Amino acid sequence: AAKRQGRGNFQFFSPAMNAATHEHLLLENRMWGALHAEDFELYLQAQVELETGRVIGAEVLLRWNDQELGSVEPSRFIPVAEESGMIVPLGDWVLGQTMALLAQWQREGLEDLRLAVNLSARQFSGGTLLSRLDELVAHYGIDPSLMELEITETAAMRDPEATRQLLRQLRTRGFKLAIDDFGTGYSSLAYLKLFAIDRIKIDRGFVKDIEHNQNDAVIVAATIGLAHSLGLTVVAEGVETQAQWGFLRDKHGDEAQGFLFARPMPAGEFREFIRRQAQPVPDA
Ligand code: C2E
Ligand code: MG
Ligand code: MG
Ligand code: MG
Repeated sequence: AAKRQGRGNFQFFSPAMNAATHEHLLLENRMWGALHAEDFELYLQAQVELETGRVIGAEVLLRWNDQELGSVEPSRFIPVAEESGMIVPLGDWVLGQTMALLAQWQREGLEDLRLAVNLSARQFSGGTLLSRLDELVAHYGIDPSLMELEITETAAMRDPEATRQLLRQLRTRGFKLAIDDFGTGYSSLAYLKLFAIDRIKIDRGFVKDIEHNQNDAVIVAATIGLAHSLGLTVVAEGVETQAQWGFLRDKHGDEAQGFLFARPMPAGEFREFIRRQAQPVPDA
């Protein structure tokens, strides 16, 4: 920002800015090496059918366990990766790993589990996403309808016309499309009007106080109704309590994700989690 202000302008750096810049540079410097050293890992968080609690798939959440920095949270490194452009190779790696996992599950007979991946605005608007996905689908031989792409409202609204075309092409391929963190952007309803999508994910911010905050309760119920009227399914994010689950079931939400059902876990653990769940309950 200092550079852009041009000659003759002063830019004062506060200690806080310095610390932020330092952190940014540090993460940026380590990220590339970390990708090569395979210090990134996919974690999976179960998504369940609301009515029954049955696992129907998972969201892929990136984890970074750095050899020097220890574990780094996505909320710290994703913004840095986005700003530096590193999100493009990193996101590409996530897409490849996700398809490899889907292909492995196919071989192991877990054919109907779906995986959802987060796409950043940069990946989305880079112009190469479609051909890259085609390449990966051909390479791994997976069914695109098992893969859901999560995009945020802000990413999609940067260039609505381009987004509309890209989403249409992705959907023609069979990919499922979800709008993430629904309700937190500035244009949620415009989004529903403009784009053909499959599901919306109600942001955790609305679910958190659903039992106590009348406004949140009304917003969530109305969002479920609106989505259903438009032929979309709804996933509630961040479900932590039985009471929240009960509320969402009463309102006929479709799916849920949250610590109540499962925390994000490594793929191997997720496999075990599914296996345990699939086991018949022993007779009493
Ligand atoms: P998101 O896509 O909205 O993912 C949901 C976040 O909520 C995850 O945080 C998950 O661990 C957390 N969460 C799930 N259930 C609960 C719950 O019951 N309670 C609470 N308190 N939290 C819950 P996480 O893994 O830290 O990821 C944060 C964000 O980082 C994600 O938000 C997503 O925007 C971004 N992210 C993660 N992985 C990727 C990736 O591979 N690519 C991109 N572009 N972004 C990613
Ligand atoms: Mg997400
Ligand atoms: Mg979300
Ligand atoms: Mg979120």
